[in-house]
Order: sequence, then C-alpha cells, then structure tokens
Amino acid sequence: MAAKDYYEVLGVSRDASPEEIKRAYRKLALKYHPDRNKSKEAEERFKEISEAYAVLSDPEKRAHYDRFGAAGVHERYTQQDIFSGSDLFDLLRNLGLNLDGFDLFSDLFGGFGGRGPQGPQRPQRGADILTETTISLEEAAFGTEREITFSKTDTCDTCGGSGAAPGTSPRMCDACGGRGQVSTHRQTPFGSFVSVTTCPRCRGAGSVIDTPCPECRGTGRRGKRKTISVKIPRGIEDGMKIRIPGEGSAGERGTPSGDLFVLVHVRPHERFRREGADLHCDVPITFPQACLGTRIEVPTLDGTATLRIPPGTQSHTVFTLKGKGIYSLGGSQRGDLHVRVVVSVPRKLTDEQRELIERLDALLPPSTERRKDKGLFGRIRSR
Ligand SMILES: [Zn+2]
Ligand SMILES: [Zn+2]
Repeated sequence: MAAKDYYEVLGVSRDASPEEIKRAYRKLALKYHPDRNKSKEAEERFKEISEAYAVLSDPEKRAHYDRFGAAGVHERYTQQDIFSGSDLFDLLRNLGLNLDGFDLFSDLFGGFGGRGPQGPQRPQRGADILTETTISLEEAAFGTEREITFSKTDTCDTCGGSGAAPGTSPRMCDACGGRGQVSTHRQTPFGSFVSVTTCPRCRGAGSVIDTPCPECRGTGRRGKRKTISVKIPRGIEDGMKIRIPGEGSAGERGTPSGDLFVLVHVRPHERFRREGADLHCDVPITFPQACLGTRIEVPTLDGTATLRIPPGTQSHTVFTLKGKGIYSLGGSQRGDLHVRVVVSVPRKLTDEQRELIERLDALLPPSTERRKDKGLFGRIRSR
C-alpha cells in the first residue's frame, strides 16, 4: 500500500491545492468506502486513498513525501502518526460514512489486535512473552535460579515511553477531547442508535503526537534483549510455566506491560523416574545377596543411603525410603524414594560357578513348591 504514488492514487496533480485534494478524497471515499462498495478491491482501495489523503493533507508530511516518497514517509512516521492529526475522520463522519463496525481503521493504524464487530480497540496491555529453559531433576527437586535472556519490546529510553520527541509532549486528542472514546449516532431502519467506540484518531490514548520521537517513531517502545534472573521453585514439574508479571513487552504509550512466561523442561534423569513428589529407581542385587540378606548403598538425590535387604528377598521387591523424594510444589513435605531391587542373573559362568549352581539346584526344592514361600515375604511390598 506504500508503493503507489499518492497523487496518482487521488487522481490529482503534484501541485494540487489542499481544497482539490480534499475534494478528490471525498469523491473517492464515497466510491470505495466498504459500506458502499462491496467489491473485494474496494477496501484495499479505500485504505490507499485514505493514506494518500492523510499524508497529502498535512503540509509537513506532504513536504516529506515530495522529497522522499512513500517509503520515506513510512520510515519517518508510524502508521498511527500518518493518521493522527488528520481531519480524515471528521470528513468521513460528515459524509455519513461509518467509522466502526469493521476493522478497517485498526488496519490503517497498523493492525494490532482490536479486530471484531465492536470496531477498533486499543491494546489494553503489552504482549506476553513465552520463553523456555531446561533444568535437571536435582534442580527441580531443590529449586534453582536461572538467567533467562529474551527479546522484548521495552519502553523507549529517548522519550520515556511517551512517543513524543524530546522537548515536546503529546497533546490532547481533539477528536475525543482526551476521553479516548467517541459516540457515533447511527440512523438505521430500526431507529437511531448511539454507539460508543474507541476514538479512531488517538486509538483510545486520549492524546496525539505531533512530533514523534525519532528513536521509536512515536510508538514509545523499542526492541531490546533483556536478561533477568528467574527463581525456579522446588517441586516444579516438566511442562510447567512460571509467570513473571510485567516482564513481557511494554504496552503502547504507557499501557501496562505484558507478562513473561518461562516454560520449564525437566531433563529426564538417568537413574530416577519421577512420579509427582515420589522417585523410583532400580538397583541390582545378586542372587546370593537376595538369599542371604545384605546391606547395599543406594543412590538418592542427597547422596547415597544404606538399604537393608532382608534374607530371602524376591526380585522386584520395592523398598521405600521415606522423605528421599522431591518436595511437592509449594509444600514443605518431601515425597519418598522407591527402590526396586532386581536380582541379576550372570550371563556367563566359570566352570566352578556352574558346578556350584548345579549343586545348589539339586538341593533346592522344585520351583512349583518354592511358590508357597511367598507368604513368608507377604509383609514386604512387591509389585
Ligand atoms: Zn521514543
Ligand atoms: Zn481521541
């Protein structure tokens, strides 16, 4: 929409007077306003002529355009600045053309948000930002702190977020008298309606900027990279998000900032499997250890612990170490560590080992009878 010649778009000569420009725009607005012209190209055309008019009807913008062209205008002015201060809205209203009910003006203003049947709406706050980080299971168990670097739109340092060039300040919007809202009277076959909508000229800000800040071009915001330290609470689970209020993108012209969300991934642990606040792990023991009982060292998140294996322990018996799990999120209690002992069978045997096991086999009762022994170990949790 910036590529076309504004004079050509309005069908006027390069030395056209302000009156000629206004007349040309009126005529074309009546022809292409989407309420009057339902063809697909009409809306696009209407945007073109509206932009051309907004620029050429303003002596300063027109001079800038004459020197630098449409690209120069877009470099110097934001879409909002092109339209702020223009009498285009009054003109259309006087022509009886609808200013709400379609998203045309939010498009003209750069098209953020605000689409919908109620017409243009000013963003209420800056955008939320989602970023992510990966932590270990130990860090999830005990909590940690992470430096998070992310890109955000932040308040412009040059103008302090006002959008007005240093030494100037925004002035009250005369379309809405600073209220940020306008009432539109509409005559329909069902009667007369008054609708209150966001002021299309200032987009609800209540003020307009005559001289935009050169750094941020009047938006009051600039892109920045920021690093902050984020506390990750103990007990956090994979896939949870931490919300840091106000660390999202800055709102436009003084509206509140959005929030930063940090999506936390917890790396799978090579030893422990997590289930809520509880941990599970497998520890191998030998057949003689299972038969005779022993004490073994088992890993925990706090170092090793000693576990007593009673004589006659069956493979896959689960022993529970109380309080060796993970803190529940926001709680002061730790879950448990469930250690499952797995009797490992040697893959290779020496001749001597084979001889001993053959002798042992001859001495043990047949396997069907051994089943009965299960009752002896009934008190030990097994699965
Ligand atoms: Zn600025
Ligand atoms: Zn206004």
